[in-house]
Amino acid sequence: MRIECIAIGTELLTTRRLDTNSVWLGERLAALGLAFHRKTAVGDSHEDLAALFREALTRSDLIVTTGGLGPTFDDFTKECFAEVLGAELREDAQSREDMLAFYAARKRVPPESNFKQALLPEGAEALRNPVGTAPGVWWEDPKEHPGVRIVMLPGVPREMKRMWEEQVEPRLRALAGESVRTLRMVVAGVPESALDERIREVRERHRQLDWTILASLTQVELLARGADPAALEAARADFLPVLGEDLVGVGDGNLEDAVLGSLKARGETLAIAESMTGGLLAARLTAIPGASEVFLGGATVYSAKAKIALLGLGAGRLLHEGTVSEATSRALAEAVRLKLGATWGLGLTGNAGPGAEGEAPLGTVFIALAGPDGTEAKAYTLPGDRADVQLRATAWALDLLRRTIRNG
Ligand code: AMP
Ligand code: MG
Repeated sequence: MRIECIAIGTELLTTRRLDTNSVWLGERLAALGLAFHRKTAVGDSHEDLAALFREALTRSDLIVTTGGLGPTFDDFTKECFAEVLGAELREDAQSREDMLAFYAARKRVPPESNFKQALLPEGAEALRNPVGTAPGVWWEDPKEHPGVRIVMLPGVPREMKRMWEEQVEPRLRALAGESVRTLRMVVAGVPESALDERIREVRERHRQLDWTILASLTQVELLARGADPAALEAARADFLPVLGEDLVGVGDGNLEDAVLGSLKARGETLAIAESMTGGLLAARLTAIPGASEVFLGGATVYSAKAKIALLGLGAGRLLHEGTVSEATSRALAEAVRLKLGATWGLGLTGNAGPGAEGEAPLGTVFIALAGPDGTEAKAYTLPGDRADVQLRATAWALDLLRRTIRNG
């Protein structure tokens, strides 16, 4: 199925608003074993949008648009599409009722201009909007445009997501059958290029599957798509020994899910002392629902003063060893573990730039893990700008913990 995304809105062509809708939709498609073959962002221009619709109708099986369904002058996605089809716009009675109910629930009366949202190109089906007033559109015309389907969704991300999940995905599943499946393997602690080389042979052996390698700053994902569940299972079995302890997990989930999951299974807890990551690691962990069973908390000890006052590090030692040092990372990990009575304590210190901090060159990071059997510390030299170094450091910290638990 060739799927095309059209993100509509002049603001998407400026730096004022990023097109996050298509990114989110791409992720949801991937979970169904589907992908976009093309994405376009287009301004609120009749001419441009009409031209795009004409092209899309000739090259795609499914066209997904977001934006331009609202009541204002710059919202004309449906009008433009109807024009391209040579179709009339008709009011959808259910959509009008939904809109009245939406306003009634808020003790308001809709302005007349709002009823334009209930108009649909003839032959289209409304996708109800449970969280807003603009219904979406599902359109197909097997006679004139066999095999083509168009989905129009509002631009407001919250509305778009709800409608996609509840009304579009079920239809797509039915269309695609359960035919395409995805095997997802998450790897950490190995650069993408080294991983690519290591898996070349086994990937070749399973070349009937459609492979993608997706690297981010924190992990690498290996994705295989195929219709035959046995082929995917065979690939999984062959990859396990090749990936070894670098494999974080198979299926959904990321590094932080894996670490929290194994700590939870072991009934263990974690405390964190962060210097140059400024709480980023804590934020990544607490983004996961249920983290509280495992993650006790920690301290953002950015300055020497905070390291001394909150975690009781010695002023003299800090000065002597330097704040960016292995000794300081150890002291942070041990102190926070002790303070919170956690099974594990992680301590992160380093220089994320932009300049050198004391003696430590940019990208120098020390991470220590204090646990029941003592403390282990590692030194890293991480590439990238400030934000990259910070994010990479959180991944290495999680990975150090993950490997220690795995091998413990
Ligand atoms: P619209 O449906 O065009 O009236 O857009 C409603 C709101 O959703 C506006 O605040 C847009 O900036 C926002 N929006 C529209 N398209 C997108 C998109 N592709 N990604 C993120 N936000 C969007
Ligand atoms: Mg708009």
